[in-house]
Amino acid sequence: MSMRFRQIHLDFHTSEQIRGVGSEFSKANFQEALQRGHVDSITVFAKCHHGLSYYDTKVAYAHPHLAQPLLPLMIEAAAEIGVKTPIYISAGVDEHMIHQHPEWGVKAANGGGFNPLAAGFKALCFNTPYLDYLCAQIEEVAQLFPGHGLFLDIIGLRRCFCTWCMRGMEQAGVDPRHDEAVVRYQYGVLLDYHRRTTEALRRHSSAAPIFHNAGHISRGFKEILPWFTHLELESLPTGGWGYDHFPLSARYAITTGFDFLGMTGKFHTTWGEFGGYKKPVALQYETAHMIALGARCSVGDQLHPNGRMDADTYELVGAAYAEVERREAWCANVTPVSEIAILSEEAISHGFTAAQHDQLGDEGAARMLLESQIPFTVIDTDADFSQYRLIIFPDGIRMDPALAAKVRAYLAGGGSALLSYGSGMAPDRDAFVLETTMSARGESPWTNDYILAGDTLAAGLVRSPFVTYRKAMMVDPGQATVLAAAWKPYFNRDYNHFCSHQHTPYTGDAGYPAVVREGAVIYFAHPIFSLYRSVGQPLYKQLVMNALRQLLPDGLPVTSNLPSTARLNLMRQGTRLVLHVLHAVPVKRGASPYNPNSSIEVIEDRLPLHDVELSLRVAGKVSRVFDPVSGCDVPFAQADGRVSLHLDRVDLHEMRVLEMLPD
Ligand SMILES: [Zn+2]
Repeated sequence: MSMRFRQIHLDFHTSEQIRGVGSEFSKANFQEALQRGHVDSITVFAKCHHGLSYYDTKVAYAHPHLAQPLLPLMIEAAAEIGVKTPIYISAGVDEHMIHQHPEWGVKAANGGGFNPLAAGFKALCFNTPYLDYLCAQIEEVAQLFPGHGLFLDIIGLRRCFCTWCMRGMEQAGVDPRHDEAVVRYQYGVLLDYHRRTTEALRRHSSAAPIFHNAGHISRGFKEILPWFTHLELESLPTGGWGYDHFPLSARYAITTGFDFLGMTGKFHTTWGEFGGYKKPVALQYETAHMIALGARCSVGDQLHPNGRMDADTYELVGAAYAEVERREAWCANVTPVSEIAILSEEAISHGFTAAQHDQLGDEGAARMLLESQIPFTVIDTDADFSQYRLIIFPDGIRMDPALAAKVRAYLAGGGSALLSYGSGMAPDRDAFVLETTMSARGESPWTNDYILAGDTLAAGLVRSPFVTYRKAMMVDPGQATVLAAAWKPYFNRDYNHFCSHQHTPYTGDAGYPAVVREGAVIYFAHPIFSLYRSVGQPLYKQLVMNALRQLLPDGLPVTSNLPSTARLNLMRQGTRLVLHVLHAVPVKRGASPYNPNSSIEVIEDRLPLHDVELSLRVAGKVSRVFDPVSGCDVPFAQADGRVSLHLDRVDLHEMRVLEMLPD
């Protein structure tokens, strides 16, 4: 089963107080919109967050003012023009049902349920009889509309203390006052949800697609994956995810072996926005980024209660999907070409045990590589490490005996590693578990210190000590070579001693190194990746890039004159290589009207790059390079294992196909 490239996720959450629902739906309007949008699949809705259904249901509640049965009409209209229709069911929220059965709602430890004065949807607990009701709906939809597949929404682990959860915890011997035990128990509730809903579908359809949406594919959380047929990476850049969530998520998703899609929105902000539009250039960039990373595309839209598809929206979608259509043949059945991997900090915690906002190491490391146009893959501990020449272990990769043994074997087999801060140490103490003469003395007492790079790491850096903003790990280098020193401040800033407006200036050597190298391992004492993610200081990135060059003496896998706003990826499709270069500049322009602490990045302008020079390390002999959009051959040179290319212009998205000679 091959997933379609040009999908729409059609939201429809419609108050029971609105009349004439679907009254203006027409087959002609629906089909015309899909064709205008170059759409080949659209997720249509059986039941919305309001808990109301849009077909003739025997087990649930149809919208009281439904003028026409929208679901079967949409399925029929789409089928006539060859468009697929997976079906949406709101699972985790159901406004109708929570008012029938408030006791099925998620209850906080203090006994609090939902606030009756707040507008908005309320979460239901999958440990209550609500799950039986949901499964009955799934079975009904699977019987009435066989084979279409399901998208189940608002799934996640809830710390719930409802009657069923309290009783369940008591029976299981779980102390409900102990947060970790509660999370472990709720993890079981979540697995049970996945099993039961999927089995409900499977009773009527053995092959239909199914996806359970939690808003993020948690890296390392593989226990739920048997209940999925594919992955959908919800990542609306203007809806809180930002422009760097998708590339990080996609570079992990592709290692799972599932077909996957990237999901953005046509909105200026996010879901629920009526009358909001982003610029076509933004949607073109977002969908180009998806196919460059091996994903199919999905664009979120929201249908007006009257059922009429919005012409401007499908004009906007069509501008992006026409470009995807021209390129998709070169983007299916691809695997990443990466010499470098990031072992995900999130994967180590299985997405659960630590708060996600503390795990900035993955994002910092990914940003450094993205901004340097270095292709990479994001892996978990199950990955075959030997596929990579170099693995980055960002900040928090504490190693249990199994992981430590795997990393030791990887290094013994010729791999290189770049570790920072707590990475490479035992889970419960500051002590290295890899073979090294370095030893850790615990965290530095200094809340900020300074890094002074030595000559081998000096390229492109200032030669003065530059400031950091987090405590480093104090390490005795042993036989390792010190590549950069840490300098301490006069004192930590406090009420009784401070200097100037911010941190205290340096006074000299701190007595512990900032960067050391031993064999094929380079260790950074600072949480350099979280630091970069937090403050964006380009010197940190330059320092890491200089360290990567030390570990890859034949050069970085890609070098170019591209600016940090450009993105690059290299894929293998059969025997050929497919190169993607992207360029757009998201600019912070505002925030969600409902959350002033958020930020909305806008892409408004095309900012083409000219005369791009690229050098790629390529194994094997290239016979031909061409532009798959124009079909024209382009000149290239190959020497010393590298291919040189010149791109006259990169306007949003430029591709090159490299055909290889047989070995
Ligand atoms: Zn509960």
